[in-house]
Amino acid sequence: MTNLSTPYYLIDEKKLLKNLKIISHIRETSGAKSVLALKCFSTWCVFPLMQKYMDGTTSSSLFEARLGHEKFGKETHAFSVGYSRKDIIELAKFADKVIFNSVSQLNMFHKDVKGLKLGIRVNPGISYSHFDLANPARKYSRLGVIDKKEIEKIAPLVSGLMFHFNCENDDFANLAKSLDYIGEKYGSLLKKMEWISLGGGLFFTKGGYLVREFCAKLKDFAGKYGVQIYLEPGEAAITQCTELVTTVLDVVHNKMDIAIVDASIEPHMLDLLIYRQNAKIASPKSGPHKFIIAGCSCLAGDVFGTYGLKKKLKPGDEVRIADAAGYTMVKKNWFNGIQMPSIVVRRLDGKVEKIRKFTYEDFKYNLS
Ligand SMILES: *Cc1c(COP(=O)(O)O)cnc(C)c1O
Repeated sequence: MTNLSTPYYLIDEKKLLKNLKIISHIRETSGAKSVLALKCFSTWCVFPLMQKYMDGTTSSSLFEARLGHEKFGKETHAFSVGYSRKDIIELAKFADKVIFNSVSQLNMFHKDVKGLKLGIRVNPGISYSHFDLANPARKYSRLGVIDKKEIEKIAPLVSGLMFHFNCENDDFANLAKSLDYIGEKYGSLLKKMEWISLGGGLFFTKGGYLVREFCAKLKDFAGKYGVQIYLEPGEAAITQCTELVTTVLDVVHNKMDIAIVDASIEPHMLDLLIYRQNAKIASPKSGPHKFIIAGCSCLAGDVFGTYGLKKKLKPGDEVRIADAAGYTMVKKNWFNGIQMPSIVVRRLDGKVEKIRKFTYEDFKYNLS
């Protein structure tokens, strides 16, 4: 891959396909449909591949819903924590389902979206998350309706319920328990519905996940309550398919060897900073040479992590940061005016396509 200049995000369709095949297997085996959560990944140059294996998209805003409709097609689910009337009027032109976050929003707008399938988000009061920041059942959570009686009252206005209560849950036994709890608590309501969404945050594409048991559980639940189940995978759909490819610009020393690359954690892999996690390095491979790999912004804590590497890094060397798709490309920004990484795709047939390069003009017109 000569003539590609770093930094760039490299999406590998073959790796993406591995996840997509698991998703379509779950669809065939359990009957549960999957819609891609665009807030995690909206890089639409690979949607032609993804749409063959998934049923559509779900969104967090009007713009995401519109992108899903324009670029992915199939089913367009629209959710937002807060709609304006303007949003709703736009959405009514292309969304299949509109899911409200509260009873007040449903009451305000259901007449404007007559004819579409409507749903409401439920806060079941349980969750699985390693981070309070991403925990939908956290104290004072505004996500979803808590009071079951309120939901019962508006039930005739909706055909479905959305339960999004997981974050990176790779523990099937935990999920099974939660589903039993939801069945017990909301069973009579579920029976009045056509569909339910179990949201995202289920890590069923991770190696070792009990996919067979998962499918059986979903099928059983759907049968018991007579509902079409939707899953809303974000991270699970795109995990491990993308690298951020960078070049070492300099090596400095302060008690440790520090390699500075032509990318930065705050503008290019912001989620790591928010959740205080280290990046995983895809290359060079691990070995005895200890290096801090750091970014080129002025932020003192612009550090990807500390690694033992197979080779000593020097200016000009390539460093590849693993798992750079989810909650990463959607959050890239122009902090420090650093060159935004290009978007490159390795197609299924091995051909490498440069999709998008960002220029000084993009930076300039982002702000005025
Ligand atoms: C964030 C979110 C998702 C996707 O979550 P992942 O953890 O990326 O699978 C799905 N549905 C809703 C409502 C969400 O807020």
